[in-house]
Amino acid sequence: MNEHDSERIAGLLLADGMTPAEDIAASRVVVLNTCAIRENADNKLYGNLGHLKPVKAANPQMRIVVSGCLAQKDKGEIQRRAPWVDVVVGTHALPHLLELLARSETEGLQMDVREQTETFPSALPAARDDAFRAWVSIAPGCDNACTFCIVPLVRGPQRSRAVDDILAEVRGLAARGVVEVTLLGQNVNTYGRDVTVPGSPRSPLFADLLRRVGAVDGIRRVRFTSPHPHDFTPDVIEAMADTPAVCEHIHFPMQSGSDDVLRRMQRSYRRDRYMGWLERIRAAIPGIAASTDIIVGFPGETERDFEQTLEVVEAARFDSAYMFQYSPRPGTRAASFDGQVHKEVVQARFDRLVALQERISTEEAAALVGETHEVLVEGGDKKGRSTQSRTRTNRIVHIAEAMEPGRFARARIVAAAAHHLTGELVRDPVGAGT
Ligand code: SAM
Ligand code: SF4
Repeated sequence: MNEHDSERIAGLLLADGMTPAEDIAASRVVVLNTCAIRENADNKLYGNLGHLKPVKAANPQMRIVVSGCLAQKDKGEIQRRAPWVDVVVGTHALPHLLELLARSETEGLQMDVREQTETFPSALPAARDDAFRAWVSIAPGCDNACTFCIVPLVRGPQRSRAVDDILAEVRGLAARGVVEVTLLGQNVNTYGRDVTVPGSPRSPLFADLLRRVGAVDGIRRVRFTSPHPHDFTPDVIEAMADTPAVCEHIHFPMQSGSDDVLRRMQRSYRRDRYMGWLERIRAAIPGIAASTDIIVGFPGETERDFEQTLEVVEAARFDSAYMFQYSPRPGTRAASFDGQVHKEVVQARFDRLVALQERISTEEAAALVGETHEVLVEGGDKKGRSTQSRTRTNRIVHIAEAMEPGRFARARIVAAAAHHLTGELVRDPVGAGT
């Protein structure tokens, strides 16, 4: 979501006639688009602002903007700690960035951290890095209240975008050559609950949206992130299974394998239900790959709780996992829970979890050797010799020949490592090798 916001910011600045700068010291505008999900993001912001202070002193024309979740969270704190910042623009005020910049020229610091989104970020222009794949925001905000998570505080409640607006954006992208879209939301599979279909009392469903996006001409791959396991209803699984464009990959954030911890996190499922859902999805969509998010060291996590996480990870056999050390976030309930786990204990558990997942990722990758997969070319190595591509199951495949980004090919997997595969091009006359 944050990277997509960066594309929107770049899009607004380009539409205003600006061009990307080669050198920060000579820039007219510097934007730091921030994330607040874990504490190291805070530290990075104030560190970067510290580096920019002398740069701006040497180039007083420079305007420094802080945007995103941290701007929403820290508000006046940014001005207090870094008075050389010119604009603070929160997550809901992005459409007003250019006005704020213009006003800062004559009126000094501008801060807009309004609490409500009026214009969807996707209604703004975007400067996308790739010509062939794109993020499409469908439902910013979140109505859940996981006790560790700052997202609802900085992004606000869920606001689903109208189906027709989403489809119009996807069709426009397809017309410009985009072949893969990733639908974005904090909790994508509750998409639609907060709105109704025009002329009907019914809410649009995520399952319907998947089918309709998958039917757009030219779109060959549909992905989505992040879903909440609880909202993976049978109709969503069915829509995934029936819609050829929807890729065989789910991100299925587990957070912990301990029921006690899940309860204190205020996650609405328990370990057995989670595993049951995962099994059902795997049975309905053969070959589907699963990734997850796990937090280590949540307040009160005991050695036994942590071992239960290891057990579930062993049993679930995720292709990959994003693993995080718990970071107390101001304003969240868990930040004031008793039993904050000591940093060294968290680090030691985290290292054990990473080692286990690395082994499983390596084993799962090795099992793919000999298979042939459709891959989408993403780019080459820096010298333009080889190709990086991606399977529908979200595995990276390196191929020795250079190919143009955005092309589809078929690759036979010949070697495997935890985080990437090596493939050889399969040249079949009737396959997807064009
Ligand atoms: N909506 C998704 C869900 O319900 O699973 C998660 C989105 S959240 C932006 C991305 C991930 O960051 C979470 O799944 C969680 O693992 C991690 N995360 C969030 N808050 C955290 C915290 N305070 N400390 C460590 N990791 C955190
Ligand atoms: Fe945060 Fe996801 Fe929970 Fe929403 S559902 S509060 S985004 S972890």
